Amino acid sequence: MTRSAFAALFMAAATPLLAQTPVDPKVAALRDAALDDDTAWDIVEGLTTEVGPRLAGTAAEARARDWSVRKLTALGFANVRVDTFPMPVWSRDIDSESAAVVAPFPQPLAVTALGNSAATPLGGIQGEVVGFDTIDDLIAAPDASVRGKIVFVSHAMPRTQDGSSYGAFGRPRREGPSVASRKGALAIVIRSIGTDYHRNPHTGVQTWADGATPIPAAALSLPDAEQLQRILKRGQPVTLRLNLQNRMTQGQSGNVIADVPGRDPNAPPVLVACHLDSWDLGTGAVDDGAGCAIVAAAAKRIMNAGRPLRPIRIVWFGAEEVGLFGGLDYRAKYGKQLHYALAESDFGAGRIYRVNSNLGPARKAEAQALQRALAPLGIVPGELDSAGGSDIGPMLADGLPGVELQQDGTHYFDLHHTQDDTLDKIDKKDLQQNVAAWTTMLAVLSGGIGPEPKRRSRR
Ligand code: ZN
Ligand code: ZN
Repeated sequence: MTRSAFAALFMAAATPLLAQTPVDPKVAALRDAALDDDTAWDIVEGLTTEVGPRLAGTAAEARARDWSVRKLTALGFANVRVDTFPMPVWSRDIDSESAAVVAPFPQPLAVTALGNSAATPLGGIQGEVVGFDTIDDLIAAPDASVRGKIVFVSHAMPRTQDGSSYGAFGRPRREGPSVASRKGALAIVIRSIGTDYHRNPHTGVQTWADGATPIPAAALSLPDAEQLQRILKRGQPVTLRLNLQNRMTQGQSGNVIADVPGRDPNAPPVLVACHLDSWDLGTGAVDDGAGCAIVAAAAKRIMNAGRPLRPIRIVWFGAEEVGLFGGLDYRAKYGKQLHYALAESDFGAGRIYRVNSNLGPARKAEAQALQRALAPLGIVPGELDSAGGSDIGPMLADGLPGVELQQDGTHYFDLHHTQDDTLDKIDKKDLQQNVAAWTTMLAVLSGGIGPEPKRRSRR
C-alpha cells in the first residue's frame, strides 16, 4: 500500500458516516446543474415587474393570480388551477400616511400603518406621547397612564442568522395595538420590527384581540423611533400628530396550485410552497416572490429530467401576510389527505445554510440521505425532528411531515415589509443556490426520476 493510499484509508475511517455513503449520481447531477438555473430569476423578475405589489385580497393580488396561472402553464406544469376563498381586506392610502412631532421640537417622522390599523379622521389626530422601552413595560403600565394618549413602544431587535429574534421582538407589533387599545390609548406607534437604519418603516399584520377596539396603529422607521426616544428623554411633554387613511372591505384571495405528475398516480404528493401575496409598500421581491420562483424552478428542473415516482404539488398561497388565510384554506380542503412532505420557501433570497426535517423515525435514512446530498452546497445537517414554514405551519403542527431549508436571514429584516423589498436586492447566485437545494430535496423525496410512461399508440 502506498503512503497516500494508506492516508486515504485512514481519512475515510476518521470521517463520519455521513460523508462516506455516496450520493445518488442522478441527484448530484441535478443538484449541480441547478446552480446555473435561469427560471427562478425569470419568474421573480416577471412577477415583480409585470404585477408589482400584490396586497392580499386586492385587485393587484388577483392580477398576480392571473399572471401566475399563465406563467405556470407556460412552464409546462399540469392542472394549473386557482382555489379561491373570501376574506376581509384591509387596504391603505399610502400617500396619506404621515406623522409629526408637534411639540416640543416640531418635525416630521417616517411612519406607516400596521395591517388592520384603524384610520384616523381625515387630517389626523393629535395626542401626548407616552413611551415604553418594551411591550412588557406597556403591559405592566396602569391604564390611567395610557388612557387618551398615543403609546410609543420601542424594543431592541437584534440581527440573527435564523430570524429567531422576529418571534420575540415582533411582540410590540403583534400584541402592542391590542394592549394599548384595551388600556384606552388614542393610538399606538411602535419602533419598526426591522434591523436597518434607513427611514423605511416596516409594516406587518397585527390582529385585534377579543374586546380590543381598533385604534390607529403604526410603525416608525428605526431612525425616527430613536429620534422620538431622544425627544422623550428631554423630559418635556411630547405631542404627536398622526394621519393614517385606510379601510376594511370584503374581497377574495386564492391559492394557485400546479402539479408535476408522478409515475405512481396514487402516491401522496411532495408539496412545495411559497406565498404569492405581498405587502403594498415594495414589490414583494424578497418576501415572497423569490420563494415562489425558487420552488417552481426546482419543480421544473425535476419535470424536465423525466417523471418522478411521486407527484410534486406546487402551491403559491394567497393572503399569507395578513393571517395565513391561504394556508388555512388549503388545510381545510386538503389537510386530511396524505402528503409525502411539505416545504415552504418564505425567508427571502439568501443562501440556504442548514436543513431541518421532521419525516418521522421510520424515514431517518431518507432524511440523512437528504443531508448528504445537500452538503456540497454548503448546507449543514440540522434537526431531524423539526421543520417550519408559514402557510404550512398549521399542517406541520397537525403532524404532517416536513422539510425546512433554512435561509441565511442576517439581512432579511433590513428589507422585510418595507418599500425597499425590490428585485435589485436579490443576488442571482444566491437564488441559484436555493434552486439547487430545492431541486436536490425534490430529487431525493420524489422517489427517483424515471422515463415518461409509454403512451399507447392509437391506430
Ligand atoms: Zn413571507
Ligand atoms: Zn412577510
